[in-house]
Amino acid sequence: MPRETYADILLPLALPETLTYRLPEELYPAAKPGQRVMVHLGKKKILAGLIWRIHFTPPLFEARDIIRIIDEAPILDDRQFTLWEWMAGYYLCTPGEVMKAALPAFLKVDNRDPKRIRKIQPITDNRQPITAVPLSPPQQQILQDIKAGFPMTPVHLLHGITSSGKTEIYIHLIQEQLEQNHQVLYLLPEIALTTQIIVRLQNVFGDRVLVYHSRFTQVRRLKVWNQILSGPDGQGQLILGVRSSVFLPFRDLSLIIVDEEHEQSYKQQDPAPRYNARDVAIILGNIHKSPVLMGSATPSIESYHQAHTGKYHLHELNERYGGIDRPEILLADSRDARKRKKMQGPFTPLMLKAINEILARNEQAILFQNRRGYSPYIECQECKWIPKCQHCDVSLTLHRAQGKLECHYCGYTERVPTRCPSCSSTGLSTHGLGTERIEEDLQLLFPDARLARLDLDSTRSTSAFSRILTDFELGKTDILIGTQMVSKGLDFSKVSLVGIMDADQLLNYPDFRSYERSFQLMTQVSGRAGRRDTQGTVVIQCSDPTHPVIQQVLENNLAGFYQNELMERQQFGYPPFTRLIRFNIKHTDIKVVAEAAADLAYELKQTLPGKVMGPQAPVISRIQGKHIQNILIKLERNPELLVRKKAIASLIKKFIDKKTYGSLVIQADVDPL
Ligand code: ADP
Ligand code: ZN
Ligand code: ZN
Repeated sequence: MPRETYADILLPLALPETLTYRLPEELYPAAKPGQRVMVHLGKKKILAGLIWRIHFTPPLFEARDIIRIIDEAPILDDRQFTLWEWMAGYYLCTPGEVMKAALPAFLKVDNRDPKRIRKIQPITDNRQPITAVPLSPPQQQILQDIKAGFPMTPVHLLHGITSSGKTEIYIHLIQEQLEQNHQVLYLLPEIALTTQIIVRLQNVFGDRVLVYHSRFTQVRRLKVWNQILSGPDGQGQLILGVRSSVFLPFRDLSLIIVDEEHEQSYKQQDPAPRYNARDVAIILGNIHKSPVLMGSATPSIESYHQAHTGKYHLHELNERYGGIDRPEILLADSRDARKRKKMQGPFTPLMLKAINEILARNEQAILFQNRRGYSPYIECQECKWIPKCQHCDVSLTLHRAQGKLECHYCGYTERVPTRCPSCSSTGLSTHGLGTERIEEDLQLLFPDARLARLDLDSTRSTSAFSRILTDFELGKTDILIGTQMVSKGLDFSKVSLVGIMDADQLLNYPDFRSYERSFQLMTQVSGRAGRRDTQGTVVIQCSDPTHPVIQQVLENNLAGFYQNELMERQQFGYPPFTRLIRFNIKHTDIKVVAEAAADLAYELKQTLPGKVMGPQAPVISRIQGKHIQNILIKLERNPELLVRKKAIASLIKKFIDKKTYGSLVIQADVDPL
């Protein structure tokens, strides 16, 4: 009797391992790892899974038959499997969870919708020839250094101030790779916010640019997947994408660029795998033997440290292209203005004067406030009642234009009450500042000014987003008020004033990264002032102008900032000197979550003495009806790390398998932000 053949199948589920199925004789000749197959799961389910391995070892239990093979050829290869395995190990999740994140929806099927299954088809299209500007001598020098350095050090960091010409350097590097018919991955933190860069790259590389983004339809995403899988086809491909594009089936990847590498949106928060695409890009580069170039005007503390300790090759560009001066930064003391009763709404006299001047000169301004809505909470003046979310432990934000109160954590909304439900008083007052309030106050002070707001509320549709930006670009709007959206990748020629409304709010956020973020945000937003041919002005409103971080922004003292911050991180044992793993433990019952967290922390402490902190309730201790406890693990950055992670993973698995705590949720967040 001939030997039976088996295949280990990976399913897009949180199963710890692959499942073994029998390969019927008639399917055997066609089957290859990386193909999708249909299989039964449980009593009723039929799912699409991936062949991971084909072998002759019978499983302990009787194996069910594979129903059929979907793809004629594998949709991915060893290199992707290697990446997935690394991610599952590093981010403490299952390969099935990685698979779920990696494949576009059309390549994943379950029995609710088998009809949606799509075959892979090669696609050809017409591509255009290239054009790029010549580089300046400093840019040229860096280009040479990068190319010469790649063989020795695979990861490079280009630290160059906004407008110093980093993108032009990327373009030259990309061009060389495309001429040799390779694939280049260009990672961006957020496509919607970077339409300008896409257009710019398309101008140079035409149809060779493939954009991959979660806002695109599934059909479009599948098309890009297929194009990349079919390979560059004689012309080279530039793949522009957000974090999920690290999963694309590259055939001939020769360069990875990580633009704005410091951006938080490279990190996936939910669901697992909670990966950071910047870090995954380095592993991807390693697997494909392709170098990685990261760029930023304000590198993350982690990358800066790696560059200054020689792990990454560092390049610096300290001047704006064309030699335009950096913006002039003015500090507006809001505490003093308040004391002297000189504030007009949320504006200091200095901020108002600056706005007045640009309006008179017919120029444009951007005002930055990192909070949407009208005010973060309302309060009854009589009994101090504050409306809270029913599902989360937070106050509701007032959105006055829509007459509603909204929870920014779960999306719950209710109508604004006319009376306090607790004492019936009509005296409800607003507290704190959101973008909507700034827009309203500004309009009262400058009735003729044309204002627009750029935040999550005003850009629910993609068309609204581009309309706001186009109007601003065409000069139809004088002042753009926005959240951190305005700090990213936008380049407007007539913006001569940038106002930061409330630096205190950034600095006082309770998190070990808050200074790093404040510094980056203020520096990035400032970079929007006076980009092309004029020197701009930046006004920062803050209650303490002597604050060291404010002073470092003022003096553009990056080295000083990083030095201080690294010293503090080292002293208190935070990244980049340690690696953090945070466990979020959730349950609807506050007692159960407390007990489970204490139990788990106890077990972790046995395995990792001296490295486990907590359990502790986070600042917001209930979200979407679930109570939360955190356990934080600090590990040294040494080769033992992977061994430790394995021990942690098996401990967690045992803990879950005991099922002592019912529907308890345990989420691992490795390198949390
Ligand atoms: P960054 O990416 O560092 O913010 P950019 O590459 O966008 O900087 O350059 C800033 C501006 O200067 C852009 O308008 C760009 O077109 C222009 N620029 C940069 N380098 C050159 C060059 N070598 N020749 C002509 N224009 C350049
Ligand atoms: Zn009341
Ligand atoms: Zn809520």
